[in-house]
Amino acid sequence: MNYRHAFHAGNFADVVKHALLCRLVRYLQKKEGAIRIFDTHAGPGLYDLAAEAAERTREYQSGIAALAAAAPAIRADPFLADYWQIVAPAFQASRYPGSPLIARRLLREQDRLSAYELHPEDGAALKRLFAGDIAVKAIALDGFLALGAHLPPKEKRGLVLIDPPFEKTSEIDDIVAGLTKALGRWRGGTYAVWYPIKKPAMVERLRTALTALSPGEAVDVAFLREPLSPDERFVGTGLFVINPPFVFADEAAAILSTLAPVLGRGNAATFAIKVSTSRPA
Ligand code: SAM
Repeated sequence: MNYRHAFHAGNFADVVKHALLCRLVRYLQKKEGAIRIFDTHAGPGLYDLAAEAAERTREYQSGIAALAAAAPAIRADPFLADYWQIVAPAFQASRYPGSPLIARRLLREQDRLSAYELHPEDGAALKRLFAGDIAVKAIALDGFLALGAHLPPKEKRGLVLIDPPFEKTSEIDDIVAGLTKALGRWRGGTYAVWYPIKKPAMVERLRTALTALSPGEAVDVAFLREPLSPDERFVGTGLFVINPPFVFADEAAAILSTLAPVLGRGNAATFAIKVSTSRPA
């Protein structure tokens, strides 16, 4: 396992992913009943932006630092409010919270989080971060296995974030196999699969597979901070959501309209939101 999210924390893709994550959780919390969040590829949970890894790439500069430097009206967008409230104090202390910590900050008393991380050091950091917190289970387990073994939750409603590093060619197959099991056990859960936009063929393969296994509605959100590039560099970020809240496509459009001028390169940002519905044959 070579991938370490510490090199990428707070980059433009994290800002988009985590802002959308906040909206998904908030919608599920509109009802009083408890929810469970599963974060299958959680990372260590908190990143030091002054540390060597973040400083080496400085990816956060065109992500969270750009948002922090943007006009206050942008951060006042009501759909960004939860996200900004969580990340702002951390950013002021040169830190960036990862998805499990953002999810934790959103939990109500009745909600629970299960976070999986396989890298030994990042998994140990995740466990330390949540030590003694009864609302969170930090587990050193393959997140794809958890999709088959730990679903459905007793809470009945909730969200599964699947955010693999995409460092292996098998990951699309792992996602599809994991989601097939997960949907068989918990059809009504909301599932959000993050993906990088670099190689159009890989993106198309993933979208086609996810659309085919979605039992009902799905929303695919794609944000490009610059046009696709022949050298297949990392130009965009996607989130494919199965069983989305009915407001999600509109909220995602509002968030991306707000973020595009902040995260885009030279006014070149574009986004696309595609809603699909599979009907039983
Ligand atoms: N979700 C995090 C966030 O948004 O802050 C970032 C996660 S990072 C993109 C992917 C993480 O998955 C890495 O920390 C990596 O060590 C971990 N990982 C890779 N394969 C895994 C697996 N099969 N099960 C659990 N974690 C895995």
